[in-house]
Amino acid sequence: MTARPATTSARSVEEHRDRVEQLLRPLAARDVEDAGTAEALGRRLAEEVRAPVDLPVFRNSGMDGYAVRAESVAVTPVTLPLAGIVAAGQPGQAPLPPGAAMKVMTGAPIPPGADCVVPVEDTRAGDGTVTIERGRKTGDFVREPGTDVHAGDLLVPAGTLLAPRHIAALAAVGLATLPVFRRVAAAVLTTGDELMPAGKPLRPGQIYNSNGIALGAALAANGVEVVSIEHSTDDPGEFRRKLGAATRAADVVFTSGGVSKGDFEVVKDVLAGIGGEFGSVAMQPGGPQGLSVVEGVPVLSFPGNPVSTMVSFEVFARPILRELSGLPPVPKHDVPLRDSVRSPAGRRQFLRGRLEPGGVAPTSGPGSHLIAAMAQADVLIEIPAEVTELAAGSTVKVWEL
Ligand code: AMP
Ligand code: MG
Repeated sequence: MTARPATTSARSVEEHRDRVEQLLRPLAARDVEDAGTAEALGRRLAEEVRAPVDLPVFRNSGMDGYAVRAESVAVTPVTLPLAGIVAAGQPGQAPLPPGAAMKVMTGAPIPPGADCVVPVEDTRAGDGTVTIERGRKTGDFVREPGTDVHAGDLLVPAGTLLAPRHIAALAAVGLATLPVFRRVAAAVLTTGDELMPAGKPLRPGQIYNSNGIALGAALAANGVEVVSIEHSTDDPGEFRRKLGAATRAADVVFTSGGVSKGDFEVVKDVLAGIGGEFGSVAMQPGGPQGLSVVEGVPVLSFPGNPVSTMVSFEVFARPILRELSGLPPVPKHDVPLRDSVRSPAGRRQFLRGRLEPGGVAPTSGPGSHLIAAMAQADVLIEIPAEVTELAAGSTVKVWEL
């Protein structure tokens, strides 16, 4: 634990965000690992990949039809003897006798000696013969090897964020694994005696633990590998033990709950005792925030109200995590307010809002427990600290969720 004085005065959003970024940015120096091509969606390619083979791999038919020599079908209609049939997947080494046709399926090898394919639509099958009704020229419907990519040519550059189209090309050249950057590994540790995991019945006084699953989802959606999602009661011994396991397993740890001014604030009690910075950030929701380094691992402590946890993630963690993952920044827009809003003085508000044709409308009041209303939102509405009232039509900044 790095010894650092605990702070009590309210920080600005930018000050706290800068501190978080300062602690997390070193995680960018990441190693390279192999990922299965099937699992590599959304990962960042660490090295350029050159095609190990030609694409197409061999000369093959672009149509179901008849492989012929163009000179045999220069005058049509013409009836040619059928010399055989080649399906996709057959080696197709038998040569085409002069003046004959060989039936070929899409993707089947073109028999040596043939130079074009007449689509089946332009033919009539006879008894051991085929009548060609429309001629073709040399090269028609023949896919030559290397015309898509040559072996040795660049297929996907280093640094590419792998989308389905890249995966398709990498799979097409037969690569089963890809060199990708290791993702930032995060652990989530929620706290609270009152919390039950989803799927279990609630006893009186209990609620479901949504923050663990929600933070896990938020991390995964921003390119982070979630190595564990654990829960601790408000018992300091249990919290210390689970925090130790989290810092051993992860590059960064996110805790929820136990950071405000109640009687059982386990996160603050334990972490402030070993040098963590706990205090208030001038924002709502998400005012109480903690930041610690335990065994060299940054620990971000968010308040427990579900909306506070999510907004804290959006404001403090998401921008730097996206940067570390090579993802584009979260889009922000200036849009008109559809309804007037009030906001407390001295704290920056992040209201949950929905973009509608007339502008952005809050989906609920400011209560930081209103997580169902947040599901209706697609943006955060940022209201500056000094603003207490905004008329409908005023321009506000919104952050895409
Ligand atoms: P705390 O920050 O621990 O004082 O919690 C503030 C409020 O958030 C309380 O109503 C808690 O019950 C609730 N809360 C804390 N942690 C969670 C969680 N993991 N999931 C859902 N609600 C939570
Ligand atoms: Mg609590």
